[in-house]
Amino acid sequence: MISGAKQLITLLKEFDTAPPSQLRSRVKLLIPVWDELRALGTSLIPGEVAVSARERILHYLRQYPREIISHKEIMVVAGISEWARRVRELRVQFGWSIMSGTTAREMLAEEESLASGATMPDCSGMKPEDYILLDEHQDRDAAYRWNIANEIRRSRGGSKARILEYLRRNAGKPVTGEELRYVAQNAAEWARRVRELRTEDGWPVRSRQNGRPDLPNGSYLLEEDRQAPVHDRRIEDRVRREVLVRDRYRCCDCGWSRETWNVDDPRYLELHHVEHHAAGGANSAENLLSLCNVCHDVRHRNVRA
Ligand SMILES: [Zn+2]
Ligand SMILES: [Zn+2]
Repeated sequence: MISGAKQLITLLKEFDTAPPSQLRSRVKLLIPVWDELRALGTSLIPGEVAVSARERILHYLRQYPREIISHKEIMVVAGISEWARRVRELRVQFGWSIMSGTTAREMLAEEESLASGATMPDCSGMKPEDYILLDEHQDRDAAYRWNIANEIRRSRGGSKARILEYLRRNAGKPVTGEELRYVAQNAAEWARRVRELRTEDGWPVRSRQNGRPDLPNGSYLLEEDRQAPVHDRRIEDRVRREVLVRDRYRCCDCGWSRETWNVDDPRYLELHHVEHHAAGGANSAENLLSLCNVCHDVRHRNVRA
């Protein structure tokens, strides 16, 4: 039996000796080359390991987590032209955190850090059709969320309203940027809409870069299904980060921090205006304090009393 590579060389030689004028016969000579090349690509991952194109793609990505993978590599191991759809299925139905270069760029444009470092490459150089598997663990709730995402994606309203609806339906649970992009119907400005929900509308949408360094790369979390009081809403991400870092991610009243989080007392950090925004207090770091939501409520109750 002739191995795939040798067979290919034979076929290419035949092609090479065909007269250049015979367009159609040259095209026909390339067909077996095409088929053989495809078979060679899929044979790189044996059938005991993966039986379908989708499984081969997954196997390949799992070999190289947090490495930037070109779509052409995926094409080679998948051996089918519909590989992009298989990648999407792996992501949305099977819960593998596969981020595309397009999504990475849209997040980076909104200053969402993708924390390059020892365990994460610099994603700023990703091409739109590159992929990266962010986490080697499958998210088993993904199929459930996928149903919600589809329902919301078809609903009326703008992309921001749909993103908010999706976050609220998943309050307290991290979702991926890819999911938000999907419910926004891939509107390119989805990452900006997420930022506006946080910095203009006062929804506690957190990410690694914005308040929750413990979250995985590429994830967002609506900490609680509650919009901040009007006076606390408009705070720029840059200022929010400055205040949280200054206060070391601790409540300035009781010292609560993420490390002491537990299910019976699921707190989170909010920013409070020392001089209320409504009363002319500035959105500056000097006028802001990190408080846990419990102490924040207490402060406001005392003001009203
Ligand atoms: Zn507190
Ligand atoms: Zn406040």
